[in-house]
Amino acid sequence: MNREENIRQISDSSRTWDIAVIGGGSSGLGVALDAISRGLSVILLEKADFAKGTSSRSTKLVHGGVRYLAQGDIGLVLEALKERGKLLQNAPHLTSNQPFIIPIYSWFDRIQYNTGLKIYDWMAGKLRIGKSHFISKEETLERLPGIKSTGLLGGVVYYDGQFDDARLALAIAMTADDAGACILNYASVRSLIKDKNGKLTGLKVRDELDKTNYTLKAKMIVNATGVFADKILQMDNPDAAKMIQPSQGIHLVLDLDFLGGKDALMIPKTKDGRILFAVPWHGKLVVGTTDTLREKAKLEPQALQKEIDFVLETAAGYLTKEPTRADVKAVFAGLRPLARPKEEGAKTKEISRSHKVIVSESNLVTLTGGKWTTFRKMGEDTVNHYQEITKELLAPSESFEMKLHGYTSTLPGGHWTVYGSDAAKIQKLAENRPELAEKIHPDFPNILAEVVWSVREEMAVKVEDILSRRIRMLILDAQAALDSAEKVAKIMAQELQKDNDWIEQELVDFRKVGEKYLIKA
Ligand SMILES: Cc1cc2nc3c(=O)[nH]c(=O)nc-3n(C[C@H](O)[C@H](O)[C@H](O)COP(=O)(O)OP(=O)(O)OC[C@H]3O[C@@H](n4cnc5c(N)ncnc54)[C@H](O)[C@@H]3O)c2cc1C
Repeated sequence: MNREENIRQISDSSRTWDIAVIGGGSSGLGVALDAISRGLSVILLEKADFAKGTSSRSTKLVHGGVRYLAQGDIGLVLEALKERGKLLQNAPHLTSNQPFIIPIYSWFDRIQYNTGLKIYDWMAGKLRIGKSHFISKEETLERLPGIKSTGLLGGVVYYDGQFDDARLALAIAMTADDAGACILNYASVRSLIKDKNGKLTGLKVRDELDKTNYTLKAKMIVNATGVFADKILQMDNPDAAKMIQPSQGIHLVLDLDFLGGKDALMIPKTKDGRILFAVPWHGKLVVGTTDTLREKAKLEPQALQKEIDFVLETAAGYLTKEPTRADVKAVFAGLRPLARPKEEGAKTKEISRSHKVIVSESNLVTLTGGKWTTFRKMGEDTVNHYQEITKELLAPSESFEMKLHGYTSTLPGGHWTVYGSDAAKIQKLAENRPELAEKIHPDFPNILAEVVWSVREEMAVKVEDILSRRIRMLILDAQAALDSAEKVAKIMAQELQKDNDWIEQELVDFRKVGEKYLIKA
């Protein structure tokens, strides 16, 4: 992906795009992917970096949603299981089959979870990724050596998918870009343009890097801005009522030895009725999450002390080595959109995790809700509105079968796996310039050639893009990321032909963001 080339494409104000997508999280990227699969011309505009919002802050599960099965939302689970199975096939470099173990403390739970998960397996049909089963107390402790044994009767093993969320977002962006879409980060939509009948005809966008403004024409405009959806709806209609109430979920990252093995821990019902996951991910353990109402939609939400305490205390209830604040390598928070109550004081209600596509009077198409796992289907359902809006014929969707950028059947192994077929090209860079074989940080396998690659091919323009979303160091070990910033900034400056002032400014910017991921002991 070449940002300069894509900026050149938006400088041509005479061009009319079939679809303009606002938002470069999983929802917007799903729309861009599906639109390009049908031969439409697409532009996607993201005001920060791809997946900077909620889409890089998930629990990292490609799942049908055991919770939604318990709630009886069969349609959503069936849809998500189908998408899960296909995504594991289309992006094997970014997803994996993850065994989960539910510790069992009563025979009633054994029957309940064993039966429920058999149904879950069965619902996945041909795309099933494993067979759930009961294991003894001894095997549970062997596979999860970190959990407390008091009262334990055994465990129920089931299978779901796991993924690298920010890198999957990037792979979708690159797949769409490879196929001819114009994909841009650091491009914020500032206003919408309408004709005399009040129908949308285009939008104004600003390049956030050099502050140039552009005007674009588009036949269909999609608002896929997650918790920011109200801002775009108000650009469309200043009197539009607020739809979204953000709710925060946080995760703490610990060393893997708190749990011990390759299996993940799932607690379906903590003492206060929530779900707790502890999932091995890139050599660390991701533990969460919470559900806390927040007033404002923010790109960089911050965990509250009480949320941190809640996750630590709940994890301590199950782990023999009880984690403390000093053990936390990083904390990250994400915002889910809840439906705002219509009347003041009424209860908030979570937008069903099944997505919604809403078309306004002006033809603004807003995609909201859903989850990462179903991004492609959400895109397909949104693009289906193209014909009704433009009165043009629409080709059938082909995104279900699309292999994502980097797809390969021979995975490179180790930390290179996430690059898929690009790994060899990055390794070649280091062979040609041995100084690029140097590690970014002694505790991480990533090398400087990856920084160069991300700048040249993955549209990384800020130190944060590299350390947070191209490699995931910021959310795996925030101090390591802060310590690596200068090295990364210097290599980026060489690639981007930037001076010392740029390096200094990047370090200030990164420190400001990075410190939010640290926990003071
Ligand atoms: C704590 C938590 C855990 C989760 N775990 C999982 C999980 O394990 N598996 C799963 O399937 N789902 C999970 N989800 C759900 C999933 O993460 C979300 O459904 C998904 O990421 C939402 O993506 P989005 O694109 O709608 O929003 P975002 O990712 O927030 O994207 C919206 C984008 O719009 C951009 N934007 C806003 N305004 C403008 C503008 N004016 N111009 C241009 N761009 C703009 C923002 O910068 C942002 O990048 C989780 C959610 C949370 C909160």
